[in-house]
Amino acid sequence: MCHNIIDGRRHKLCGHFVALATRRQDCRRVDCLFSERHMHMGQCRSASCLRLMSPPTFNPIRESPTRCPQCVMAKTGYPVLPNI
Ligand SMILES: [Zn+2]
Ligand SMILES: [Zn+2]
Ligand SMILES: [Zn+2]
Repeated sequence: MCHNIIDGRRHKLCGHFVALATRRQDCRRVDCLFSERHMHMGQCRSASCLRLMSPPTFNPIRESPTRCPQCVMAKTGYPVLPNI
C-alpha cells in the first residue's frame, strides 16, 4: 500500500518530531487507488482495490539536541509526551 513518508527533525530534549516535508511512497500496485499505476481511470468502482493508505512513516533527517519551537514557545514546565 502507498504511504506518506514524513521527513523531519527530531528534537531530543522533548521527543517531538517536526515535519519538514512529506512525500508519497508509491506501491506501484495496479489495484491500489493511490498508486499512479492504478488500473481504473477516474472513479474506481472495484471493491477489490485498496482504498486505504498505510500509516505514514517518520523519517528523521535531522536531530536537534534542543526542544522544538513549539515547546520553546509554550515554555511549559511539565514533561511533554513524545508524539510518536
Ligand atoms: Zn498503493
Ligand atoms: Zn480501482
Ligand atoms: Zn517539543
